[in-house]
Amino acid sequence: MIDYRSDTVTKPSAPMLDAMMNAKIGDDVYGEDPSVNELEQTAAQMFGMEASLFCPSGTMTNQIGIKCHTQPGDEVICDVTSHIYQYEGGGIAFNSGASVKLLQGNRGRVAAAQIADGINPDDVHKAHSSLVSLENTSNRGGGSCYELKDIEEIRQVCDQNHLKLHLDGARLFNALVAKNQSPEAYGNLFDSISICLSKGLGSPVGSLLLGNTEFIKKARRIRKVFGGGMRQAGFLAAAGLYALRNNIQRLQKDHEHAAQLEAALKEKSFVQDILPVETNIVIFSIKPPFTAQALVQKLKEHDIWVHEMTPTQVRLVTHLDITEAMVEKTITTIKNL
Ligand SMILES: *Cc1c(COP(=O)(O)O)cnc(C)c1O
Repeated sequence: MIDYRSDTVTKPSAPMLDAMMNAKIGDDVYGEDPSVNELEQTAAQMFGMEASLFCPSGTMTNQIGIKCHTQPGDEVICDVTSHIYQYEGGGIAFNSGASVKLLQGNRGRVAAAQIADGINPDDVHKAHSSLVSLENTSNRGGGSCYELKDIEEIRQVCDQNHLKLHLDGARLFNALVAKNQSPEAYGNLFDSISICLSKGLGSPVGSLLLGNTEFIKKARRIRKVFGGGMRQAGFLAAAGLYALRNNIQRLQKDHEHAAQLEAALKEKSFVQDILPVETNIVIFSIKPPFTAQALVQKLKEHDIWVHEMTPTQVRLVTHLDITEAMVEKTITTIKNL
């Protein structure tokens, strides 16, 4: 089975499992798990930020970040396709009692001017705008990435208007590798950053929330309230440490595989258009009478699993369990469709 449904489907490699089995562990709710502490310190250092917090999922790190930065009744400004709005179960309202101002970005990326327009005036009738959340890479944008200068402009707008800036960096490492950017540059620009260890980096479980010491102290309290305080989580943290130390640069391979798949799909008459491939995500729309569902079915007959995003859109995600041979087989299959 060749599984392109998501980069979350990866399974721990033998050396990662070794690292997990040999992890030093303790009770992390007491702050006594050496592996969790090492992971949190390593990540914070990498981004030049003061502290970080290990959580079970990227949904939790995003939702804790939003909760820390807002009060009930506040408004969060984000792109309409954002994961925090589309795929976190209405968590912004459920957890934080906040509303959203949805912007129509360019493949998931928003511009500073749009954000400036989206900030509510200081008027009792209006919700208080308190937080901007960006997503890099953008999932629904087909893995699109920001230029740093665009984020710098957004930071300025936030500073001028006393807004906090959060990054949903579930796939930030894909952006760093594709754009040759440094984690420190991001640490400098954001009040909080969420990164996923369980996507392209290949850990089985886990995400990190990064910020300053005071923010992470508050986040730790909210993690407990959300039920995310784990005990001997060091087994999972060891996988995360292994991932940060070994699986970042190889993301380039995933990007090459995605570009090869894009090229093969471009030749097909049933493909309407493809979002420009910048990282490890390929999203394309399908011309009638062919449907996304029919294509998913057809590929499944060849043991190739892809994700039906909408009735007319299909997504493929490359990751570290997709080999060159698998990509070759997929390209041959696409050619023969
Ligand atoms: C996967 C993902 C998350 C977090 O997902 P979890 O499954 O909760 O870890 C957050 N944002 C984006 C853009 C994602 O793709």
